[in-house]
Amino acid sequence: MPDPRAELIATARAMRSAALNRGTAGNLSLRCGEAFYITPTGLAYDSLQAEDIPVMTLDGSHQGRRKPSSEWRFHRDLYASRPEVGAVLHAHSPFAVSLACLRQDIPPFHYMIARFGGDTIRCAEYAIFGSPALSAAALAAMRDRKGCLLANHGLLVAGRDLAEAFALAVELEELCEQYWRTCQLGRPVLLSSAEMAAVLEEFRHYGQQAAVVAPGQDGTAQDSSCRSRSMRAM
Ligand SMILES: [Zn+2]
Repeated sequence: MPDPRAELIATARAMRSAALNRGTAGNLSLRCGEAFYITPTGLAYDSLQAEDIPVMTLDGSHQGRRKPSSEWRFHRDLYASRPEVGAVLHAHSPFAVSLACLRQDIPPFHYMIARFGGDTIRCAEYAIFGSPALSAAALAAMRDRKGCLLANHGLLVAGRDLAEAFALAVELEELCEQYWRTCQLGRPVLLSSAEMAAVLEEFRHYGQQAAVVAPGQDGTAQDSSCRSRSMRAM
């Protein structure tokens, strides 16, 4: 099995080419059993090596030659409270940040809003970066959702694995751009609750098909080979 840290680094680098990130803003993590790998603080993704990736346990302690991202708390709290979450991505992508600065939920202007689990994408209340208050606000906005905005800050998504988390982040930034463009032209016509309920129902069947090939046959995101590797890394 490939080193999960290599997969984490490859996805982190892809964040830049997908215009999700510039510089060292943003962060990414991957669950491995009872622990998770997370991008380190203040290090350009281009220069990252596997040994630069710290591993953290759910009690918030870490091992490795680099310190974890200062925004590790909402990663840890998502893994601790949501067993289906296998990867978490946070970015300061331009359209998501612009909408997050309005501190408004994104309404159902497009049916793909439902991909995130509901009929809106919530904007979490503001709290300073890295704080327990920000993590609490983020988890509240993420309730029954796979993504949210963080007020005056950026976006946050949680997927069953890195591929899904990355796809969700690209989709959320895309929706933010589309909503922004629509608002330039006028007031969008929003989908009704009934219309969004029908889309959510369709996506539920779609999700069940996808779950057949998802890692963790029991619906959790854990991977036993990943776990043994993370324990060796510690
Ligand atoms: Zn941030």
